[in-house]
Parts: sequence; structure tokens; C-alpha cells
Amino acid sequence: MDCLFCKIIEGSIPSKKAYEDDKIFAFYDIAPQAPVHILVIPKTHIASMDEVNTDNADVVAHIFTKIPEIAKAAGIVNGYRVVSNCGDDACQTVKHLHFHILGGTQLKGEMC
Ligand code: AMP
Ligand code: ZN
Repeated sequence: MDCLFCKIIEGSIPSKKAYEDDKIFAFYDIAPQAPVHILVIPKTHIASMDEVNTDNADVVAHIFTKIPEIAKAAGIVNGYRVVSNCGDDACQTVKHLHFHILGGTQLKGEMC
């Protein structure tokens, strides 16, 4: 499958790792939109939030249990935002489910 994030997981495309376990991978965004900008992804290929279902929801729950730990380990101390763009109107550019962790500064109040 020609998926950029699957290639990052397998290591054929390099990334700066923030966290890894048997189910998920987290790495620094190549074009950061905040002082700390990390992407958290499942190791299984799920195209977007639209593809989350009862069979694969465990890995999404696991991501959410690890996000606070990943944010803290990256030095975020005063809050952060978690974003998942789903589909064209939301400007999802990589069709592998990912959660952006944005922090390290006072973020804007508007979300779109
Ligand atoms: P989205 O627009 O929500 O699909 O987010 C995709 C994100 O992937 C963007 O923030 C990109 O900057 C980021 N990105 C694209 N290629 C890479 C890469 N090779 N390494 C790290 N982040 C990447
Ligand atoms: Zn993938």
C-alpha cells in the first residue's frame, strides 16, 4: 500500500520519533504549526476517523490513553490541542488516521 505513514512506521521513510509501542507510533510533524507538533498514529492502517469502528476502536482508545504521556514527555506543561482532520473539507492530506498534538505556546482560540 502506498501510504506515507505506513512507510514511516516501517522505517523506510525517516522520522523523528516521540513515542512507540506495539500498537502506535508518534513522531514530530515535518512542518510544525506550533512549537511542539507531534503526530500520533496507529500501526495498523486506518484511513481516517470515518474508518473507525468497533473492530479497531481499541487502538484509538489506546492512542488517547498515551497522548497525555507523549505531550508531557515532549515538554508540554500548560495545555495542548488534539486535532484529527477527516476528509477533504477538513484538509486531510495523509489518508492514515492521525492525531495532531499541538502545544508549547498559547494557541489561538479559533479552531477553523
Ligand atoms: P493532515 O493535513 O491532517 O492530513 O496532516 C498531515 C500532516 O503530516 C501534516 O501536518 C504534514 O506536515 C505532516 N507530514 C507530511 N509528511 C510528513 C513526514 N514525512 N514526516 C512528518 N510529518 C509529515
Ligand atoms: Zn497507512
